[in-house]
Amino acid sequence: MVCSDFVARIQRYVPHGWKIVKVGSRAAQVFAQHCVLGKIATKRNTKVRSLSRSIRHLWTSRVKELVVQQLWLPNIKTASVAGEFDQRKFELTFRRCFFCRPTYLYYFWKDQRVFRPCSRDSFCPFCFARICAGQYRYIKGLLRDIGRHKADTKLVMTGRIVSRFVLAPGFHPTLGCDAKQIKVYTKILRGELRRHQHAYTKCQKRLQRNTLGSLCRTVVIPQDTGWCIETRQFFLHNPRIKLPAVKIPGAKVRYLQHSNVSTDYAKPEASSDFFFILAEINKYPQELLTGYVELTAAYLHASHNLRLLSGTGLCRKTGRSLGKHFKKKDADARAAREAKKEARAVSAVADLF
Ligand SMILES: [Zn+2]
Repeated sequence: MVCSDFVARIQRYVPHGWKIVKVGSRAAQVFAQHCVLGKIATKRNTKVRSLSRSIRHLWTSRVKELVVQQLWLPNIKTASVAGEFDQRKFELTFRRCFFCRPTYLYYFWKDQRVFRPCSRDSFCPFCFARICAGQYRYIKGLLRDIGRHKADTKLVMTGRIVSRFVLAPGFHPTLGCDAKQIKVYTKILRGELRRHQHAYTKCQKRLQRNTLGSLCRTVVIPQDTGWCIETRQFFLHNPRIKLPAVKIPGAKVRYLQHSNVSTDYAKPEASSDFFFILAEINKYPQELLTGYVELTAAYLHASHNLRLLSGTGLCRKTGRSLGKHFKKKDADARAAREAKKEARAVSAVADLF
């Protein structure tokens, strides 16, 4: 399907022509760094640069590997709409994936076109981080409002991780497996993901009733002989109310520390408990890039069209809707700033006369 000279060409693809100019320092950008690099304590810019370079290298080689071995193609559905495979369309999407980049770094590009982000946020680490940064900004704003206006509130935030290991039967780490076996794994994994989602939907009504807001993210982490599926949750609630459980047989439950909103919101960004709870929930599974390629391919097929991120109550807005939300907000703020500047200029002119 993918023509052979393209395969030969992508073997030579190197992401060159760009230079990291600066590391972003806004709170949401710092948060995105933590989510994707997995280094909570890192503060030095050189470290962030080198880690980002290496994750970008992992990402490009993983995309290449998947395409060359034809285990997964980034847009197989849209590239062959009328039953015909459109090579040009496919190559464009491939390049967008390949050149996807983190938002927390500023680049200088020499002569290459800058591509739009690939927006595969359940796989691409940079688009994953983009969504996380939006979430951070949104929830931080909520907490600030709550903390400022109801200083005596007892509201707390809690994190919870429900994890379950799923075995890939007969998977051989050195021999790997063939396309037929990947299909079997996809089926198993999709069933498991559905089970997690079903368990979550069952407690969703109670979440709406008992908490002020909640977030839920399902993550698949490939391992040596299978996958670990994690349902990670974030709650904003009254400590006296019992949290509804996500009941999955054989799953391990781990609680992250919980912390009071009214004291936590005023702390500096990277030292607040909220930062760490949310960072733990939004940690990017790097094993998708470093683990066995067959297991990653099975995950990509299994998670197709599944909603892995959802929220209730105050945190109802998640994922891409947050992107739109902030785009509009930023545009409004910019317009207000411009208007103010203009008004000032007009009044300055009026003062002259
Ligand atoms: Zn991307």
